[in-house]
Order: sequence, then structure tokens, then C-alpha cells
Amino acid sequence: MKVLSNVHTHTLYCDGENTVEEMAAGAVSLGMTTLGFSGHSPLDHPAGSGWAMTPEAFQSYKEDVAAAREKYAGRLEILCGLELDYDSSPEWGRDLDFIIGSVHQLMPDGDFCSVDNVPEEVDDAVNRHFGGCYYSYCAAYYDKLSGICERTGCDIVGHFDIVTKFNGEFRRFDENDPRYRGPAINCLRKLVNNGAVFEINTGGISRGYRTTPYPAPWILREISRLGGSVILTSDAHSAATLLHGFDKGADLAAACGFDSVKALTAKGFIDLPVR
Ligand SMILES: [Zn+2]
Ligand SMILES: [Zn+2]
Repeated sequence: MKVLSNVHTHTLYCDGENTVEEMAAGAVSLGMTTLGFSGHSPLDHPAGSGWAMTPEAFQSYKEDVAAAREKYAGRLEILCGLELDYDSSPEWGRDLDFIIGSVHQLMPDGDFCSVDNVPEEVDDAVNRHFGGCYYSYCAAYYDKLSGICERTGCDIVGHFDIVTKFNGEFRRFDENDPRYRGPAINCLRKLVNNGAVFEINTGGISRGYRTTPYPAPWILREISRLGGSVILTSDAHSAATLLHGFDKGADLAAACGFDSVKALTAKGFIDLPVR
């Protein structure tokens, strides 16, 4: 299978390494049919500095994407979307082609605790706000994520189990433990009922801190069993990684019970066979 659409991408307007134009040119050279831009939504908090777009950058981002859409018309379908953070104003998501809804931090007692920045920040948050219990921390994450569709109106749920980012070899908590799986499954059920499409997100592989995509295979099998849908995305922060790990992601989808994956196009979601 050759998937030629990726709609989870970042540019220099947030924490990516390339311009909108460079990403579009890269997509054309890879023979892609659809490229979606999903910059990080503006976040009204100092901790968003450096990775979330400023309101001014968001304006320029939309203009650049519109210009690229015009320039590449007939060669590459370009969609203007947003990775809308739970804690951003949902207003930023208005009038765009698609929304990826993501949770990147917990805010216990108003304290900004990133779930995916650095492991020390996670350990510190667990100790200060969750009595040192990673299971309570993960439960709080999944509780927040379970409201992502209502909060953001998203088409796609971003990196479902990103809370496992620093849990390689289960060094912080056991992902087989019911205290972890219970809240994750409850969240999954809610989001499947909301009609969410879940990412098979290969971004962690290209950036070198994971060897497998988000989410874990057991979660993918559960999504499949519940009748949910998945979409391959690379969460690309550079033009070089636009389709990184897609073959691996498609194999994983097939192994976890999916006959097809979704792809987003200008006409909406389509189904692509995985074999
Ligand atoms: Zn994200
Ligand atoms: Zn992203």
C-alpha cells in the first residue's frame, strides 16, 4: 500500500524546521497527493512559547498555506488545518479544513505540566500533583483527552497515548496494569462513540525517541474491535520526514485488525486498503 496523504505537519511557524513552501515542495517530490498543515494552535500561556504559534504567526501561516495551495494547484492538494490544543481557545479552529485535537499538558491547580516535553518535567509533575503515582497522572490525562472532541470539534485525535512517551521499557509504569488500561479504555470508548478518527502517529520514530508509532498495538486492536477508524500521520517537523514510517504504520494497522485506514483529502475522508 502507498499512502500519499499526510495531514499532521509542522513548520517554522511553530516548532517545525521548514517553511510551508519547503514542505509543499517536499511533498511534491515524494509524489504525495495531499498535504495538510497542522501547526500548533496559539496558546495563551507563557509555556506555549517556542512551540505554539503566536496569533501573528497563525495569520501568516494561513496566508502562506493559501499561497502554496494556489501555486501547487493540480499537482498537490493542500489543506489548511490546525493541531488544536485542548487548552487553546477553540475559536482558533474556525474556518479551517480540518482539526487535529491534542492534549499536550495537564493543568493541575493551574500548574502547566507538559506531558511530552522532557521526562524530568513529567516526573516532577507526578511527584508534586499526583503523590508520585503515574497511574493517577495517566488517569488525569485520559480523563482530559476524553473531552477533546467536545472541546475542539476535532476530526482527528492526536497521538492518543502520548502519555507513554517517556515510558520506554515500562520504566515509569506498567502499561499492562489495569490502573493504566482502565482509564485509557474508557477514554477510547468515549472517543470512538464521538466518531473520532485516531492517528497512527509515526512522529516519535523519526525523532528518535520511539521505535513504534502511537498508539500501542493493544490500543489499536481495541479501536478496531470497537469499530473505530485510524489514519496514518507522521507528525512531520521537517520535509524529510513527511511519510516517515508509513509502511510500518500500515503493517501495524493490518496486524491490529484493520482492513483499511482513512486518508484525508479535499473531499473529506476516504478509505484506503492496507494491503
Ligand atoms: Zn501534538
Ligand atoms: Zn504535532
